Amino acid sequence: MTVRKTWRCIQGCGACCYLADRPELDQFLAPDEVAQYNSLISADGWCVHFQPSTRQCRIYDQRPYFCRVEPEVFDVLYGVTLDEFDEFAIACCEEHIADIHGPASAELRAFHYQVAGTDQL
Ligand code: SF4
Ligand code: SF4
Repeated sequence: MTVRKTWRCIQGCGACCYLADRPELDQFLAPDEVAQYNSLISADGWCVHFQPSTRQCRIYDQRPYFCRVEPEVFDVLYGVTLDEFDEFAIACCEEHIADIHGPASAELRAFHYQVAGTDQL
């Protein structure tokens, strides 16, 4: 039986708030949005709004639309349909989490548990 996974963010991750090293941005964002994105990158590569001690966004309710993992946003940015959303968003998170926390990290295990349950542990 195929288990349909549902994307969810996990607490204590923040991997997608490391903003440096995303050379493909201009494929998805307009020039003014690329400028806005670049303006958020601090010297260490993390977003200026990222709170390292909590791994949370300081401006979560006002975060830019390109930070939002939502079907409507992914449709505009990546042409992802509602039916494709969970699989695509999960793959994005897996890539970010593995890059930042490591492919064998507790964060990646927690993410897999969150999106798919104990069958992924
Ligand atoms: S990488 Fe995914 S799970 Fe981690 S903070 Fe970002 S949206 Fe949440
Ligand atoms: S604005 Fe918030 S959600 Fe967006 S990258 Fe910065 S810390 Fe992360």
